Amino acid sequence: MTDSVLPPRLPARVRLGQYPTPLQHLARLSKQLQGPQIYVKRDDQTGLASGGNKTRKLEFILAEALAQGCDHLVTLGGPQSNHCRQTAAAAAALGLGCSVVLRGDPPRQRLGNLLLDELLGAHVHWAGSRTRDAVAEEVVELLRASGRRPYFVPLGGSTGLGALGYVVAMREALAQLAEWRLDIDVMVVGSSSAGTQAGLVLGAALTAYPGKILGISIDAPAPELANTVTRIALEAARLLGPEAAAALLRVQVNADYLGGGYAVVGALERDALRTVAQTEGLLLDPVYTGRAFGGLMDLIRQRVIGKGQRVLFWHTGGAAALSAFTEDL
Ligand SMILES: *Cc1c(COP(=O)(O)O)cnc(C)c1O
Repeated sequence: MTDSVLPPRLPARVRLGQYPTPLQHLARLSKQLQGPQIYVKRDDQTGLASGGNKTRKLEFILAEALAQGCDHLVTLGGPQSNHCRQTAAAAAALGLGCSVVLRGDPPRQRLGNLLLDELLGAHVHWAGSRTRDAVAEEVVELLRASGRRPYFVPLGGSTGLGALGYVVAMREALAQLAEWRLDIDVMVVGSSSAGTQAGLVLGAALTAYPGKILGISIDAPAPELANTVTRIALEAARLLGPEAAAALLRVQVNADYLGGGYAVVGALERDALRTVAQTEGLLLDPVYTGRAFGGLMDLIRQRVIGKGQRVLFWHTGGAAALSAFTEDL
């Protein structure tokens, strides 16, 4: 492994997860697909209330919240937001209050992440026909007016600060790969609010990882996603100082698998989910990793990713949402 140049001075971090997350070889699936050897970085196993990629981002964001003396977190997301559930869990673990603003109106049944939000003690607000941002702003002001010290966590925790979690994760993964004496040609990650990919791309630049990092877009056209990844990576680099800011970023995205749109489960996601579950006993989620892995399987079928390559798939979590998608699956 190439030694990491940086970061000599990471901002403060509060520990919320268990690391390193496991690295796993999907031997049976690799054989069945007759394609590349596929490995998985199990960031669905970060350990915070069923885990996921938001845990690593929150470690940096919430260190800032604590330093500012906040006593209540406010964030937003979709009705089955993994980010909101992990934020609610982090708030509980740190002894903070938590309010989450979810898109639309309450469903008939509280399933999946929504049940977990409530079990974890979060106050759930429904945006209805209003924007989540407007409602979140209102919640923040009401908390302030009642003497609390709220801290707003942006969508998906995808800020420069949050992305540092994946700069650290990249170093962690490269150390594991070095131990396994394994060179990875392509890393694949589902990309939406883009902080995860931004952190990986910056981490790669700082450690001279020579392979590709391919972001499979979950909901945005390719140019828009690539811009967001770049913007957040540059923001993260600035936090690490001038040496990091000069790092050469290589941003690659694929937006061929948007299907019916965000959280609309189609044949691609269903097939990937069932194939991985029934070949490896590994659960993907219907919104993010199902789509990203479905895209990976298609790229293998098309021989865009060939048999001689080695692939690392970042499992970013989300299986806690499965029960809310019973009818789609
Ligand atoms: C949020 C999320 C993603 C996308 O990560 P971003 O940093 O928002 O791009 C991928 N997978 C799961 C399970 C998520 O919850």
